[in-house]
Amino acid sequence: MIAAAKEKIMQTFRTKIPNHFDLPRRIARLGELAYNLWWVWNPTAQRLYNRIDNALWERVNHNPIRFLRSLGRAEVNAAAQNPVYLDLYDSVFAKFDAYLKTTDTWCARTYKKQSRGQIAYFSMEYGLHEILQLYSGGLGVLAGDHLKEASDLGMSLVGVGFLYAEGYFNQRISEDGWQEAIYTSLDFDQLPILKVVGEDGKPLTVVVNFPDRTVSVHIWELRVGRVPLYLLDSNIEANSPADRQLTTRLYWSDLDHRIMQEVVLGVGGVRALRVLGHTPSVWHMNEGHAAFLTLERARELVLKGTSFQDAVEQTRSSNVFTTHTPVPAGNDEFPLWLIDKYLSSLWAELGLSRDQFINLARNQQSWGETFSMPVLALRLSGRRNAVSELHGHVSRNMWHFLWPEVSNEDDVPITYVTNGVHTATWMARRIRVLYEHYLGEDWLEHVDDPEVWERIDHIPDQELWAVRNHLKRKLAFHIAERARTRWTKGGFHPVQVIASGVMLDPYVLTIGFARRFATYKRANLILSDFDRLLAILNRPNQPVQIIFAGKAHPADEPGKQLIQEVYRAVKRAENGGRLVFLDDYDMNLARYLVQGVDLWMNTPRRPNEASGTSGMKAALNGALNFSILDGWWREAYNGENGWAIGEDAELDADVFDGDDAESLYRTLEDEIVPLYYGERGVDDMPRKWVARVKQSMRTITPLFSTRRMLKEYLERLYLPAMK
Ligand SMILES: *Cc1c(COP(=O)(O)O)cnc(C)c1O
Repeated sequence: MIAAAKEKIMQTFRTKIPNHFDLPRRIARLGELAYNLWWVWNPTAQRLYNRIDNALWERVNHNPIRFLRSLGRAEVNAAAQNPVYLDLYDSVFAKFDAYLKTTDTWCARTYKKQSRGQIAYFSMEYGLHEILQLYSGGLGVLAGDHLKEASDLGMSLVGVGFLYAEGYFNQRISEDGWQEAIYTSLDFDQLPILKVVGEDGKPLTVVVNFPDRTVSVHIWELRVGRVPLYLLDSNIEANSPADRQLTTRLYWSDLDHRIMQEVVLGVGGVRALRVLGHTPSVWHMNEGHAAFLTLERARELVLKGTSFQDAVEQTRSSNVFTTHTPVPAGNDEFPLWLIDKYLSSLWAELGLSRDQFINLARNQQSWGETFSMPVLALRLSGRRNAVSELHGHVSRNMWHFLWPEVSNEDDVPITYVTNGVHTATWMARRIRVLYEHYLGEDWLEHVDDPEVWERIDHIPDQELWAVRNHLKRKLAFHIAERARTRWTKGGFHPVQVIASGVMLDPYVLTIGFARRFATYKRANLILSDFDRLLAILNRPNQPVQIIFAGKAHPADEPGKQLIQEVYRAVKRAENGGRLVFLDDYDMNLARYLVQGVDLWMNTPRRPNEASGTSGMKAALNGALNFSILDGWWREAYNGENGWAIGEDAELDADVFDGDDAESLYRTLEDEIVPLYYGERGVDDMPRKWVARVKQSMRTITPLFSTRRMLKEYLERLYLPAMK
């Protein structure tokens, strides 16, 4: 019965697709392809679009649906009759069909049927592609990469999240360096999502109860290869105008909104999966935002007559919680009056008193008692993990108080799985071609096997260096085009044109610094001795240029001041146009940057960077890392595959920034710049630099891939949770 209902939903989902576009039959499946994000990590599939009209593909921001709708008749017909195009078309669809249909996946080969239960993955944000602005930064991109890899491995996993009507904001920087947040409504009709409808053709509706009312949500499906992602949407007629706004934006700073959203995610998400006929055997919370799912799962059993205590015991072992927050103040928690306001009906349904309910997640902050989402998740999950080795130590220390009976901190039951990135999503096509040629056709299938990477020396240095230079030119060209577009649109001061990178030189050592502008990431560390920096930037014959990019949360005043400080430095004429700030950092810009720069710099205040992932994306494209020994870099750095800033230790807060700045400048002056410019032969190639690039690719790409990461999640968390 359930299976039949599910099949029906899938069919409705499928039959809707072709009606959107008016394409010749021979290439009609371009519409179908648009609705599966598989094309995001398959460059040849993207070629099916951009080969028809590359300028249009860029103009629509790589959105295949807008692309197909805007395409001229003549171009479509020409493609449908071009034998070269049709060959490409047939080979892409042969791959696509094989990918979707095969039963020969890594998971199927490795695990017996009984351990192939389904995993439900909950996250507040997902970074899958630039047209789906459902992410704010690293947490979301990690979730997106998690789904893509689950698909590649053939893991039975479903995602749950939100479809934000306005997504995350677009960033503009005023002439004075102040961040302006621009919200635009996403046009759902132009996105590769489809509303899930029931047998009667009406949207499936899920209801979430609050003490004074109910909120209904519809469900949208996004196909990520073989993995479905269900996105909840409260903007429907059944709701009051205020409730329709609930899923408008990501990370409201207003706590009322925040807690209601989290109830909808945790409670509504479980109910959505039930309505869709899913019966997951593992429930994975990516950060504490989804922790209410633990209570909804318990409530399902309480309704059948189980006591709350027994319900918790029965569900706990199949809950998995991943924490990403290394500072107590960064945690997601609510004052108790908000719990009274929104959850009083739930504790009654669970058969708990107010006190018993609040005790599930009680925490003490300097400003009072709170209901802490990570505490709830830690208590009600059978397996918990941090996201790097160091973050594991920090987490066990931070949460030790929840296990007073555990005397040794190392025995606090929080393990770690270091983050990784989805190789195919982040790798430049030209690098991929090199790997295919020299590592073997099937290198991507074995990307986490260090043996594959021993073949990196088969790549001739000159070829690698040529691709690196090509990617840097591509970056500079893209930046100039962006600046040109902004300039022609008006309202852009000439100094902003310079600040946005038109004077970048594609033959100069280029440093990238792009990430959220949170103060702990210290974007201004390199500005702390400005004269010393100017000397580095402007050294005759050995200049350096630095590209900054990143958004601050709109409510984060210190973060916005940090952007302003960087922007003011960028605008100073003495830097010769060699300091640049690019506005509106997103996944598209991230790809250009991690693929195009020579050096990826990261200067967090240790141990605040739980893992960090952008440096991994840079490394797999042949950029070198230059970073504080925090998060993932502490594990990856081996003395020969990049550079460290500062010591492998926490220092006193006051000497800290100064010591790190000194280490940063000294390493740049004495090691990095000389290595990049020195010892070049007639071919103008810095041999020792290229050798280091190969060291970095060899050691980092396999280990810091989502392939390695998901196998660890499966073996260490998911499979034990299924038992
Ligand atoms: C990878 C990525 C991040 C995360 O970067 P960190 O180095 O982990 O801070 C943030 N934003 C975008 C757009 C990304 O692609």
